[in-house]
Amino acid sequence: MMNEDGKNRNGEAVTDGGSGSEPETALATARRQLERAASHADVDDGVVARLKHPTRVQQVSVPLRRDDGSLDVFTGFRAQHDDVRGPYKGGLRYHPEVTADECIGLSMWMTWKCAVMDLPFGGGKGGVAVDPKTLSDEERERLTRRFAEEIRNVVGPKKDVPAPDMGTGPQEMAWFMDAYSMQQGETTPGVVTGKPPVIGGSYGREEAPGRSVAIVTREAVDFYDWDIEDTTVAVQGFGSVGANAARLLDEWGAKVVAVSDVDGAIYDPDGLDTQDVEGHDERPGMVSGYDAPESLSNEELLELDVDVLIPAAIGNVITTENVDSISAEMVVEGANGPTTFAADAVLEERGIPVIPDILANAGGVTVSYFEWLQDINRRQWSLERVHEELESEMLKAWNAVREHVEERDLTWRDAAYVVALSRIGGAKETRGLWP
Ligand code: GLU
Repeated sequence: MMNEDGKNRNGEAVTDGGSGSEPETALATARRQLERAASHADVDDGVVARLKHPTRVQQVSVPLRRDDGSLDVFTGFRAQHDDVRGPYKGGLRYHPEVTADECIGLSMWMTWKCAVMDLPFGGGKGGVAVDPKTLSDEERERLTRRFAEEIRNVVGPKKDVPAPDMGTGPQEMAWFMDAYSMQQGETTPGVVTGKPPVIGGSYGREEAPGRSVAIVTREAVDFYDWDIEDTTVAVQGFGSVGANAARLLDEWGAKVVAVSDVDGAIYDPDGLDTQDVEGHDERPGMVSGYDAPESLSNEELLELDVDVLIPAAIGNVITTENVDSISAEMVVEGANGPTTFAADAVLEERGIPVIPDILANAGGVTVSYFEWLQDINRRQWSLERVHEELESEMLKAWNAVREHVEERDLTWRDAAYVVALSRIGGAKETRGLWP
C-alpha cells in the first residue's frame, strides 16, 4: 500500500503503472485531474495555467524544546493555492511525510472543494512533518504554538483560516487560536475553525466530514435506484470521518459489514453494530481488537464484494496494483485523494462510479464556514441548525454535480470539477489580472 505521498510502506517512491513515470504524489494527481477536467469545462487556458500553481508556499522551521530538555527542529508548511473567491481555507496536518508538494496538492483540492460547495473561500493546506504519536501533550502544545507563530504573518480570519486535518484536532486549534490571539492582543476565534465549542467552535464540526460522506452515499444509492436497506458498506478507517459515516449509514438502514483501523479490519457479513465498535479517536486499537466473526487486513477490506466502499483513512490506497481486485459497485471517497489518477481511469472503464472527495467529505469545510460565520457574528448555532444547514448545502452541491453527470455523461469527479472550475474561472475572468 502507498501512503498519501506516493511512497510504499518502506518509504520508496511508487509509480502508478500506466500513468507515466512520475510518482503519484498528491500534487501530480491534482494537476492531472485539473488538466482532464479543464477539457470538459468552459474555462480560459490562462486560468487553468494559473490554477496549476499555488499563490505561495511558506516553509518554516519549528524548534521544539522536548520534555527531557533537548531541542528538535521540525519543518512546517502553509501552502496557499488560490483565494479568488475568498480567504484561503484548509487543514493543518501533523504527519511524518508532510512535504511542500503534498501541501500544494491538498491545497488545490481545497480550492475545488470550497467552490463545489459554493463557499466564499479559496484553498490552503499546511502542516508539520512530525509523527504526533511521538509527542507528549505538552510537546504538542509547544509545537503548535510555535508553528502558529511562524506562520502568523500569512494567516488571519480574512486571509487564511486553518482547520484540523490528519493528526490534529480541536485541541490543536484551541492552542493555535490562543497563540495567534495573544500576539494580536485580541481574542480572534475566526483565525481557525474546528475549535472546541467552548471557545467559538461549532457544534457538529467534528462529525461533519463523516456526515457529508453519509449524506452523499445516501443520495448516490437513491440515484442508482438501490434500496439503502439492501446496501452493504465497507469503510476503511474508523477515525472521525469513517466512524461517523459508518454509524449514520447504519442508522439509516445500510448494512456496514466491515470497518478498519491502521492495524486491520473486522468483518461481519450480517452487519456490524457500529455503535458498539469504539472509534480510533475514542480509544485507539479497539477496532482491530473488537470481537467480530472475522478479521481481515486493510488490503482485503478494500477488495470486499460490497455495494459501497468508503476509503476514509489515508491517500493513495486504490492504485493500479489493486484496482482490478476492487469488487465494490461504487466508491465514495471519505479521505482526501484515496484513488490515484491511473486507478480512477480503470474504475471508470470498469463502470464503477467514484463519488469524489471534493464533494463527499466537504461537510467538514462547510461546517467550518458555519463556524467562521458564528465567530464573526459572535453567536453560536444549535446542533439542529448545523445539521439542517449542512443537509441543505450538501443537497445543493449534490444536485449541481448530478446535473452534469446526467446531462453530459461525465464521471462524478469530472462533474464536480466542472462545477468548481466554472465558479473559479468565472471569478478570475471577472476580476481580471492585476496589474
Ligand atoms: N481538513 C479538512 C478537509 O480536508 C477541513 C478543512 C477545513 O475545514 O478548512 O476538508
